[in-house]
Amino acid sequence: MPILVVGSVALDDVETPFGQRKGALGGAAVYFGLAASYFTEVQLVGVVGRDFPAGHLELLSSRGIDLAGLQVVDGETFRWGGKYGYDFNARETTFTHLGAFAGFQPQIPERFRQTPNVFLANIHPRLQLDVLGQVERPQMTALDTMNYWIERTPEELREVLARVDALLINDSEARQLASEPVLRKAAARILELGPEMLVVKKGEDGAVTFSREGIFAVPGLPLDSIIDPTGAGDSFAGGFLGYLAASGDRSPEALRRATIYGSTMGSLCCEAFSTEKLVDLDPHEIEDRFQEYKRLTHFEHAPILLNA
Ligand code: AMP
Repeated sequence: MPILVVGSVALDDVETPFGQRKGALGGAAVYFGLAASYFTEVQLVGVVGRDFPAGHLELLSSRGIDLAGLQVVDGETFRWGGKYGYDFNARETTFTHLGAFAGFQPQIPERFRQTPNVFLANIHPRLQLDVLGQVERPQMTALDTMNYWIERTPEELREVLARVDALLINDSEARQLASEPVLRKAAARILELGPEMLVVKKGEDGAVTFSREGIFAVPGLPLDSIIDPTGAGDSFAGGFLGYLAASGDRSPEALRRATIYGSTMGSLCCEAFSTEKLVDLDPHEIEDRFQEYKRLTHFEHAPILLNA
């Protein structure tokens, strides 16, 4: 079943110890859409300026992403710059030029309105609410947000949280949102705000999924090479929700598999600059990575006589 994503489409300047890219294809909706496109059909709603390269549009279309909801307006595309040192969990944002994204008013095309699955990437909670008002009773809605909105628009954020099924955020955002340093308690508070599932992403250290049925934690897979972690969180969301949308299953077992597919897509994203890895994946690579997580986390219980 298809999934609709609403969020940023960007041109990124990224610098890591291994090189740099300027004007690379980026944005939360792009990373999400590319990752989810390996699981199900993707419909994208966003905005770019007339400077957005035609080649990027062709690339997204070549992955089957439906761009009917991508507005092309006068002005410049959203541009963002990020710089990393050897600690990839610490990133410096070097600039944010909102351009056309500053006036973004999501317009959901008529034929996207009955899409059963919706992902609201990190945009103003008021716009997220507006999107929920335009779609017709989706079966699964999910949300990303950031500290900026947690601090500045707490009421609107709570309003949207009360209306979604899933929230995907990082650990510091979860603690901040719940005003609670203990992650497990923070998660319990967040689930009381509305969502039935909460995914807490911890960068290189993995992810934890909380629901009323329990907790599932996956460690970070030690990778052979990390080139550029930009977009890993959104790629995680694409794998997680793409799998749930494709399977139509929200059982505790499906949530576990979704957490592994999320981790799979997030980790693959980091292995090349920008979206370079995500645009051209062999589905076997995704399955192999899934199995690698299985091997990494599997163990047998062998009873021993404990020394009393
Ligand atoms: P992540 O590494 O998961 O935080 O995602 C980085 C991507 O998000 C980059 O491609 C940026 O273009 C985009 N981005 C950065 N800041 C924002 C923002 N304030 N709103 C929306 N998208 C953003």
